[in-house]
Amino acid sequence: MRPSRGRSEDIVVFWLQGRESRCDGCDAELSRGNFLRREGDRGLCLACADFDHLEFLESGDAALTRRASKHSRLRAVVVKWSKARRRYERQGILVEPAAIETALEACLADEELREARRRREASRRERLDHEYVGTFADQIREQYPRCPPETATRVAEHACRKHSGRVGRTAMAKALDPDAVDLAVQAHIRHELTGYDAHLLGGLERREARERVRPEVARILDDWSASS
Ligand SMILES: [Zn+2]
Repeated sequence: MRPSRGRSEDIVVFWLQGRESRCDGCDAELSRGNFLRREGDRGLCLACADFDHLEFLESGDAALTRRASKHSRLRAVVVKWSKARRRYERQGILVEPAAIETALEACLADEELREARRRREASRRERLDHEYVGTFADQIREQYPRCPPETATRVAEHACRKHSGRVGRTAMAKALDPDAVDLAVQAHIRHELTGYDAHLLGGLERREARERVRPEVARILDDWSASS
């Protein structure tokens, strides 16, 4: 019976799981978990088949398997008969230990590369966020020269958090639109400097609560707008 998986040129080694048998070469006992290589009608242990210098690499990590295969001069596919599925299933490969070492190093390097990329992206985002807060605060001070600087920073930070991780150049430009800056400042005033939140807590509808605090918001905006 031909294994259902594995290319036709693959050397196949069987993972024994049933009753004991013996190597037709050296008469060694072969039992469950041992590997068997068929040569014609002979079943050989790995030593007799000249495969015992190879190391078993279990399936599961596709990149590692691919790389180890590439670096090994000799390679065999290990299969096991599945009673349930009634077919041979691939368990792993036998390759040179050095090939596994090389493959592991390459995979590790990949991981390090990914990690380095991730760090770079995070720092780029942080820089953008920082720039965003600074520019946003500048914009606030431009529109409201008498807005306390620490308030401008707080409003800018809040606006930045809202866009956290998504602050690209385009989003930044859009968010720095004078109307957007205006809305952010007004929201801050409403929440922090008026009874707006208390009104909401008291059960007032949002629209009505806004109406209530509108004159106060307007007065503060007016104060902050004055350039002298
Ligand atoms: Zn043998």
